[in-house]
Amino acid sequence: MELWYTEQHTDNVRFSIKVDKHLYSGQSEFQRIDVFKAQEFGTFFTLDGLMMVTEKDEFIYHDMIVHVPMATNPKIKNVLVIGAGDGGTVRELTRYTSIENIDMVEIDKMVVDVCKEYLPQTACKLDDPKVKLYFEDGLKFVRSKENTYDLIIVDSTDPFGPGEGLFTREFYGNCYKALKEDGILVNQHESPYYDSYAKSMQRAHQRIQEFFPVCRVYQAHIPTYPSGHWLFGFASKKYDPVADLDEQAWNSLGLKTKYYNTDIHKGSFALPNYVRELLAGAGK
Ligand code: SAM
Repeated sequence: MELWYTEQHTDNVRFSIKVDKHLYSGQSEFQRIDVFKAQEFGTFFTLDGLMMVTEKDEFIYHDMIVHVPMATNPKIKNVLVIGAGDGGTVRELTRYTSIENIDMVEIDKMVVDVCKEYLPQTACKLDDPKVKLYFEDGLKFVRSKENTYDLIIVDSTDPFGPGEGLFTREFYGNCYKALKEDGILVNQHESPYYDSYAKSMQRAHQRIQEFFPVCRVYQAHIPTYPSGHWLFGFASKKYDPVADLDEQAWNSLGLKTKYYNTDIHKGSFALPNYVRELLAGAGK
């Protein structure tokens, strides 16, 4: 008998992974959490039947969500991470000795507990002394913050269920307020490829643009996300991610990375024409 995990990417497209074992299934207050073991992708976990992290390709997502802003402003010291319960984003951030504090706000404690048990590859730094964990709604957490963070990373689920609030005008406005005068906001920005994802991506881009003078989008290839073509948003009060990239400063840190390098950094902001058009048409 064969066991397959199948995810519905659109009404007409499904993506399947052959599974060796269904390791865990549980229902939290917010979502259903499942963990599987597979030959090709190693251990992976899903929330409400949507892929979050696999051992095999998580390095791409976590490298790109962390090292792009860190290489743009190497002076970042105080970081807020929203979502990210698997710990991969925090793991990459803790590699920078220059960072003094990481506040991580995850709505669902059960995600963190499950990942600590089944995905130590990503969860390994969640107990680092620089990391403060808050089990709260990120939307509420940022409301009271002003001029506090150098960097906010929004490593959220898609814009429905608990993640919905993290794609609203209110949230982006509060992130702007919570950032210092040279602050950077990076978020997972959905995919441009399938219509329903592209619409969420356009909406997010339009809303972020209402607050931030610098508003760019960059891309990576993530095999287990719908279509494999995934975007990240880079918004900032001051820095341009390409013009202000200090390649020498980042390369002199000697961080070993499997995906990110400063050539990829520059190249990831070069977008295909159809994506440029979607972004230009956002809100029109
Ligand atoms: N890399 C993943 C992806 O894009 O598929 C996202 C990973 S991470 C597991 C997303 C986390 O965001 C989840 O653990 C979820 O519980 C959390 N989350 C969703 N809505 C949230 C909210 N409003 N505040 C804080 N965390 C939230």
